[in-house]
Amino acid sequence: MLKFDFHPAGRHFLQIPGPSPVPDRILRAMSYPTIDHRGPEFGALGLKVLDGIKKIFKTSQPVVIYPASGTGAWEAALCNTLSPGDTVLMYETGHFATLWKKMAENLGLKPEFLGLPGIEGWRRGVQADMIEKRLRDDTQHAIKAVCVVHNETSTGVTSDIAAVRRAIDAAKHSALLMVDTISGLASADYRHDEWGVDVTVSGSQKGLMLPPGISFNAVSEKAREASKRATLPRAFWEWSDIIEMNKDGYWPYTPNTNLLYGLSEALDMILGEGLDNVFARHQRLAAACRAAVAAWGLEIQCADAAVYSPVLTGVMTPEGVDADAVRKLIYEHFDMSLGTGLGKLKGRMFRIGHLGDCNDLTLMAALTGCEMGLKLSGIELKGSGVAAAMEYLTSHVAKPALKAAA
Ligand SMILES: *Cc1c(COP(=O)(O)O)cnc(C)c1O
Repeated sequence: MLKFDFHPAGRHFLQIPGPSPVPDRILRAMSYPTIDHRGPEFGALGLKVLDGIKKIFKTSQPVVIYPASGTGAWEAALCNTLSPGDTVLMYETGHFATLWKKMAENLGLKPEFLGLPGIEGWRRGVQADMIEKRLRDDTQHAIKAVCVVHNETSTGVTSDIAAVRRAIDAAKHSALLMVDTISGLASADYRHDEWGVDVTVSGSQKGLMLPPGISFNAVSEKAREASKRATLPRAFWEWSDIIEMNKDGYWPYTPNTNLLYGLSEALDMILGEGLDNVFARHQRLAAACRAAVAAWGLEIQCADAAVYSPVLTGVMTPEGVDADAVRKLIYEHFDMSLGTGLGKLKGRMFRIGHLGDCNDLTLMAALTGCEMGLKLSGIELKGSGVAAAMEYLTSHVAKPALKAAA
């Protein structure tokens, strides 16, 4: 790293919940020379990634790929489907839901923010019954869209999207369903078509194990119909031009060629492992991480076991202990980055990412760094989280990923 005039021995541990570590295979794939984005080779690459990414979203409908961060894809979802002054029902699960709502305001929409009071909403998943009730009261169908975050990265809570779909259907409401799974995709089970999602927003730098820089809108037929009537100004984000040119594997502008090499490699890796195996791996590592937190005697930010995130775990520090001071100490002593507390949780918790290119030993090393850092911070721990996580992993053995030669 440029900022060091020395080499810190060993690897940096990037244990934030995105960007997640980029595997060497992907880094190498991205180092190929940039090619002509109008040439034949590019068209083949474009068709491959456009088709492959559909399998990750579990959709047969178009997935638009933007050279932008996840925030850009949030904007694309809203401006392609809505008109100035439209009411949208958003749900406060945490910091990212709050940012999406602010964006809706900035775009001239009228977001209504549902949620549990105070910090409660930041400890639980989306309450689908609250959405159903609000939609039933909206007899004129003034609400044009329901927007929820699937995996709330600021808290470590993964909401039940199928339940939100059922709530909209039960209320017989016409609103579009839009879901942010920027940090859930390719780590937590996600089903765009089956769950009847109209626009799914995602990004590259979390479960897909890529650097930041590309993002996605998976788009239903109903969303594309809505986009024909939507009058929010848009140009760069316009779906129809992109979907049209994507038919041959091209884009209306210069796409992010080298990141698409990376995406192609990531698709091979994820689909090669098998999505179900990827999800099971994440669930198992998350459970081991929670076993560690419980053994330390610390509290997990998510207060509902039914919606624990397989992607990250939020760890609350004891009253009076600044979680950012613990993070700083861990960074300085052990060269490991942990996620900071965001928004309402600033200083109250840190986040351990266990997503993407993470295995048993990666997690064990990360937990060891946490445990040493907590001790050095003078925090009284109930017991060894490292021992508890090892116990979990050895009593829940995964199918071996490798086979040695006989
Ligand atoms: C990371 C993240 C975002 C923001 O994505 P950027 O790529 O930083 O723009 C939005 N929502 C969620 C849930 C995220 O995890």
